[in-house]
Amino acid sequence: MDRRECLGLISCAIGGASVGLAGVSPVGAQVKAVAGNYRRYSAPGKSGKKVIILGIDGMDPNLLKKYVDEGIMPNFQRLISEGDFKPLQTTQPPQSPVAWSTFITGMDPGGHGIYDFIHRDLSAFQVPGEAGVYSSMSRSEGPEKTVAVGKWVIPLSGGKIEQLRQGKAFWQILEEHGIPTTIYKMPANYPPVPSSGRSLSGMGTPDMRGTMGKYSYYTEIIPRNADDIDRGGGEVHKVQIQNHRIKARINGPDNTFQRIRKAASRRSAKKKKQEYLTPKCSIDFEIWIDPEKPVAKFVVQDDEFILQEGEWSDWVRLDFEAVPYLVNISAIARFYLKKVRPAFELYVTPLQINPEDPALPISTPENWSQELFESLGYFYTKGLPADTKAFSEGVFTGRDFWDQSEMIFQETRKALDYFMDTFDDGLLFFYFSSLDQGSHMLWRYMDPEHPCHVQDEFLSDGIRRIYLEMDEALGRVQHSIDDNTTLIVMSDHGFCPFYYGVNLNSWLVEMGYLKLIRPAEQAMHRYFGNIDWPETKAYGLGINGLYLNIKGREKQGIVSPGAEYEELLNELEADLLAMEDPRNGQHPISLVTRTHRDFHGPCTELGPDLVIGYNRGYRCSWESPLGQFPLELFPVNEDPWSGDHCMDHRVIPGVLLTNRKITLETPALYDLTVAVLAEFGLEPLPEMIGKNCLGPVANAAIRVTMENG
Ligand SMILES: [Zn+2]
Repeated sequence: MDRRECLGLISCAIGGASVGLAGVSPVGAQVKAVAGNYRRYSAPGKSGKKVIILGIDGMDPNLLKKYVDEGIMPNFQRLISEGDFKPLQTTQPPQSPVAWSTFITGMDPGGHGIYDFIHRDLSAFQVPGEAGVYSSMSRSEGPEKTVAVGKWVIPLSGGKIEQLRQGKAFWQILEEHGIPTTIYKMPANYPPVPSSGRSLSGMGTPDMRGTMGKYSYYTEIIPRNADDIDRGGGEVHKVQIQNHRIKARINGPDNTFQRIRKAASRRSAKKKKQEYLTPKCSIDFEIWIDPEKPVAKFVVQDDEFILQEGEWSDWVRLDFEAVPYLVNISAIARFYLKKVRPAFELYVTPLQINPEDPALPISTPENWSQELFESLGYFYTKGLPADTKAFSEGVFTGRDFWDQSEMIFQETRKALDYFMDTFDDGLLFFYFSSLDQGSHMLWRYMDPEHPCHVQDEFLSDGIRRIYLEMDEALGRVQHSIDDNTTLIVMSDHGFCPFYYGVNLNSWLVEMGYLKLIRPAEQAMHRYFGNIDWPETKAYGLGINGLYLNIKGREKQGIVSPGAEYEELLNELEADLLAMEDPRNGQHPISLVTRTHRDFHGPCTELGPDLVIGYNRGYRCSWESPLGQFPLELFPVNEDPWSGDHCMDHRVIPGVLLTNRKITLETPALYDLTVAVLAEFGLEPLPEMIGKNCLGPVANAAIRVTMENG
């Protein structure tokens, strides 16, 4: 398994395509989120206070300092000289959903219960034929009751989509005190938690097929990695040109309103029971190729548009008919005509939930996404919109990725203008994704030490250019605010190069902690198949998680809780820290965190027993998180995804800048949560573990004394 497949399975883990229609009822295609009961937004009274938080995912303090020192980021320079700047301690593990959940709740993973992108489902884990993993952020279920009539399936109750993060979001606390809040694309907040303010979901929001983003790729020549693409981030369609015309189809979400008879299998024949499949909604469209020029005309439902080779379309609205005349499911997509000749190639973005007519819950109040659409036009609604997968899978070149990233940034930038023109009271949180995504995909162009460094004059400057864009955006905000506005610029983590993967599960085999049923087939099985569980003491799952196989907890657990458990943790910790890469003598792991000892709150049972902190340059391999065992322990990372942050949190802190003074020596994400509440004169909740990092200096001094004591 490589990155593609890993992502594909994570998509399955979030509920697969069926989530697309979870909760859509036949009347009016309404969706009910579990977190529902939205109060309609009504402008509360004036709080008389303004706080603006710019959340710049992945902004790194070292790179920021470097560019500021070069004198090319004047607006950040001004903020630093007039206010303050410090690295911001992130979470362990420093994965975005974990870090943002900590900022949202003021708690560590022990409190909010998000430890990784994926968690294991103990009821299905270690069960043959079951993956036993799920997305840590949200879960969807179809309607509990349905009635089947012929080929139709009519839901009698709404399905539900459940936000899995525990704890109260800081903006919910503000709203309880009458402070207006506007939350633009907060990560790890899908579906958005109930709120009387305005919020739009961000990272973690699926596409309209219920995946973390499945693009469509139309081509005359099927690429060699087509199977990988289909298992991973895309869907390959072979097309034929006949009389200058291509007939093609866009697949939408599963049509859970319909069923089709499955051909009888031996098993079903035995049971004498007819089995059914759920078909996909789809839309047929046509492309007319100009006989001479590299130009094509597209006819998609009522839309007609012409694209030159290398050109992107505007947003195109797509209406999938689930039940004729009754249920339409709306989505939007953009078309990118990559090549007309010699061989035709077309890329279509993952189907975005249409903000104008959202079939899944993406905002509070429910109609706020519509209001945004009216002011901004269509926009990307999928969590992280840049198509890193199309780039990793060779459908995008580096330049294609850059062009798409720029379009996303421009959309975001336009939204920032809108908020700067309209925001006048309370809290505004505004999120940028492009620096994180760009730093992941463009690192190896910038870094000549990367083992897969690529020379490219334009792209080697890509990350720096995104920093400059952030500087311009900050300037726009500085221009709009008055002296009474608190401005906070923060990131969830920084960035490091990702040179080598660590096959943690293969290492566990080598060290005797994990036994395989058929050792000769070590590299051949997937998804934790081939593990001899009754002989296995520990296994890695997710990007930073290591679990012990515990008696009474895991279905086939063998490690006794108590002394044996503690001893095994000690032994593992020592071995993990002693791990050495023979290529350079480095230790790929520099920190081992124990969930029960180091985290606080009621969710420590959910987490892995150990959280692995990888050293600079290393990260868990693409294969290990979902239970594969390649033979090489430390493979070179050949994926364009060449920068990362899922490491030892001490090597990748985020940034904190503000026009106030930062009064804690080493502020952490959970301190910032407390500081935001304090800006509005509110006390933290008892379960919050931070201190006000913008508070009076005296407080900070007390804290240092107490910690030293
Ligand atoms: Zn990231």
